[in-house]
Amino acid sequence: NKFVYAFEEGDKDQKDLLGGKGANLAEMTRLGLPVPPGFIITTEACRYYLQHGRIPDSLRVQVTMALRRLEDVTGRRLGDAVDPLLVSVRSGAKFSMPGMMDTVLNVGLNDFSVEGLVEASGSERFAWDSYRRLIQMFGKTVLEVDGEAFAQALDDAKEAKGVTSDVELDADDLKGLVETFKAIVEKHTGRGFPQDPREQLDLATEAIFHSWNSDRARLYRRRERIPDDLGTAVNVVTMVFGNLDDRSGTGVCFTRDPATGKTGSYGDYLVNAQGEDVVAGIRNTLSLDDFKKVDPDSHKELRRIMRRLETHYRDLCDIEFTVEKGKLYILQTRVGKRTAAAAFRIATQLVDEQLITMNEALDRVSGEQLALLMFPQFDKSADREVLTRGMAASPGAAVGAVVFDSATAVAWKARGEDVILVRKETNPDDLEGMIAAAGILTSRGGKTSHAAVVARGMGKTAVCGAEQLVVDVTAKEARAGEVTLREGDVISIDGSTGEVFAEALPVVPSPVVQYLEEGIDAAVADADKDTAELVRAVDRLLGHADTVRRMEVRANADTATDADRARRMGAQGIGLCRTEHMFLGPRRELIERVVLADTPDARSAALDALLPLQRDDFVELLTAMDGLPTTIRLLDPPLHEFLPDRAELMVKVALAEERGEDVEHDRKLLAAVNRLHEENPMLGLRGVRLGLTVPGLFALQVRAIAEATAIRLEAGGHPHPEIMVPLVGSLMELHLVGDETEGIVEEVSEAEGVTMSIPIGTMIELPRAALTAFRIAEVAQFFSFGTNDLTQTTWGFSRDDVEAAFFADYLKKGIFTVSPFESLDRDGVGRLVRIAVEDGRRTRPDLTLGICGEHGGDPESIHFFHDVGLDYVSCSPFRVPIARLEAGRAVA
Ligand code: PEP
Ligand code: MG
Repeated sequence: NKFVYAFEEGDKDQKDLLGGKGANLAEMTRLGLPVPPGFIITTEACRYYLQHGRIPDSLRVQVTMALRRLEDVTGRRLGDAVDPLLVSVRSGAKFSMPGMMDTVLNVGLNDFSVEGLVEASGSERFAWDSYRRLIQMFGKTVLEVDGEAFAQALDDAKEAKGVTSDVELDADDLKGLVETFKAIVEKHTGRGFPQDPREQLDLATEAIFHSWNSDRARLYRRRERIPDDLGTAVNVVTMVFGNLDDRSGTGVCFTRDPATGKTGSYGDYLVNAQGEDVVAGIRNTLSLDDFKKVDPDSHKELRRIMRRLETHYRDLCDIEFTVEKGKLYILQTRVGKRTAAAAFRIATQLVDEQLITMNEALDRVSGEQLALLMFPQFDKSADREVLTRGMAASPGAAVGAVVFDSATAVAWKARGEDVILVRKETNPDDLEGMIAAAGILTSRGGKTSHAAVVARGMGKTAVCGAEQLVVDVTAKEARAGEVTLREGDVISIDGSTGEVFAEALPVVPSPVVQYLEEGIDAAVADADKDTAELVRAVDRLLGHADTVRRMEVRANADTATDADRARRMGAQGIGLCRTEHMFLGPRRELIERVVLADTPDARSAALDALLPLQRDDFVELLTAMDGLPTTIRLLDPPLHEFLPDRAELMVKVALAEERGEDVEHDRKLLAAVNRLHEENPMLGLRGVRLGLTVPGLFALQVRAIAEATAIRLEAGGHPHPEIMVPLVGSLMELHLVGDETEGIVEEVSEAEGVTMSIPIGTMIELPRAALTAFRIAEVAQFFSFGTNDLTQTTWGFSRDDVEAAFFADYLKKGIFTVSPFESLDRDGVGRLVRIAVEDGRRTRPDLTLGICGEHGGDPESIHFFHDVGLDYVSCSPFRVPIARLEAGRAVA
């Protein structure tokens, strides 16, 4: 097996084998760019190591060959006492991955070659400083010596000399420090710092392989859903030095602005410095324009290379470079990370520059990015000072008074105050407070912590793991540095950046939402140039997605107001109107009367009272959706939602009896509630079961729909209602409801003298429905997958309880990478969907297929629904644009 590739031998498409960094170094070498020579040890070697606990034998030989070649090319030798070759050893997985061991510089230095470096560089101080850095870095990362020991020794050396900064230490001080560092290594590992350069290289390689499985790396992979079995490559690169003299330096640059997407090049440069100095932010960096002033030749060369790379990759590149004594080297490039706004702008810019097609542009943006752009944001032009930072756990901008417990959050919210719930971490007991809060801030836990998972589920702004924040719940205060936040203090949290501010910041609505609601002209009218360009980019990409996508996008909307919004967002119909929502609130008692009626007459009277209300609801809805399909689902309440609370009622009756009051009515009510009480209402008398058990209930709704349709037709409208039956598990259920429905529709048609045809279909939200779809399709004219219930019933966990109860734990353990209620479980629930699609179409080739569970708005799930061949997805109005984009991306 070939485990080692010279840079000349690879290319950018070999990321699986060579890792991202290695593949790009190889590509640049092939382009003839000034990359320091080197070679790559493959991810395959890493996988071998992880499996067998040792490196493959042939790797040693191949590394020898590659090293010899490197020595020939550079004309220098590793460990030589004259002008020695030094290399850096860098990890590089397919996906960039914090948590893994990063880099060891200056490999090849030892007690002899350090003298060679003195000679070659002409600087004794430089050479000993390089050696000092090697022992420190190598000791810490490869030999796992506690880094504090080195840091302490360095501080001691400075203190002994009475200086404060590293640069004030001279060559002799550094020589002394090298001895101290070597002693530290010996003390902690029981053996001396390895003097053999080849041993240094081998140990560093193994340490990088090993770090693939560090806790942090594993956690990161789980969070980002990167497979565990990829392994990392190792890059061995000839050292070049940016810290030799003032004609040397190091920098990073971007071919476009990764923050806003503006054209032009951006970057930082540090004279006489090494890479780590830039990151550490010790000294002020120069802009690229200033770089041009200090080193016009290198600058010109860099600009040429930036253009070359951008043209080659046809995307924003970020580039790390070093200048050694006036000679420019490129150390790394990759297609650069960018903000959501930059992604949209850059994608359309590249189309305009004719570097990519519109289809490719669609591939450069995502629904998640669009979602980020749709949240309200803090006004960036306002003066603001960051108090502290955490993880951007759930996007949005929230302002409110600090509270430290759930009860206070609920109480303050009830009196009309916005609050931010601040906790060390949250647990299921905090749920009510989280619901009441405008935002959630925790000092511990990451993107998969309870707070983050629950907040994202609720669409609530959250910043998690703000580690510098010391939260004292008992004292009701939180400290960040000098600042102490007390209960009632107003703060702002930015869930898109993780920033926390100790003041109320002004919030501005998203320009993208304004565009969606009011159209492009209104949105760009008063916008600044950047905003206008962003909105235009979104418009173009969404428009393109609309032209290429195969699936339609409908919305879940229960009222005419929601329906209006959905239409503006681009919905092509309503995929789910949940009629039970029309009866929560003041109308609840009307349903209560129907359910509790103890004689047929009482029930009829209760139903008759409902009819005009329902009819008006549907007239409004069908007016709002004129010309578009409108799927109305018959009642599907878990019954308890419509009945008075049992415990409360019991107390009420008991108290009234004690006082000797008339309790006749309440006692009857209680008896009925007791009779209907269910331990598992979600698996109980709901959906079609209720419709078949309570005579007249579905009939009333069907009549209301038919009459509303007649009214709209008579008014010259174009109503397209569809009647959908929930929670069907057997063909017979649908037969019974279907027969009754057809009868009523016919009756109304005749009575009103209009012709109408109203398709009847069913939700597929029980495994049995999916498995018997071939039968159900005999009656159903359409299927709509209720993936919320289908997930609940397939996994057997309650959608109302489990997310808070144990999902955080399940995510941490890696049982899920994401909540199956958020992103469709393809293997299990998805399999049922596929079966129902195939079997249903076999029975009825023109069966319309859609999905109306929450997954209809989730990007990954949308791609799955496209793949299995659904006709449409239906999601909440605000997710409609995201679904449009993703349905387009699924094709492009
Ligand atoms: C579903 O179960 O996926 C669905 C859309 O219905 P509901 O969420 O109303 O149960
Ligand atoms: Mg359901």
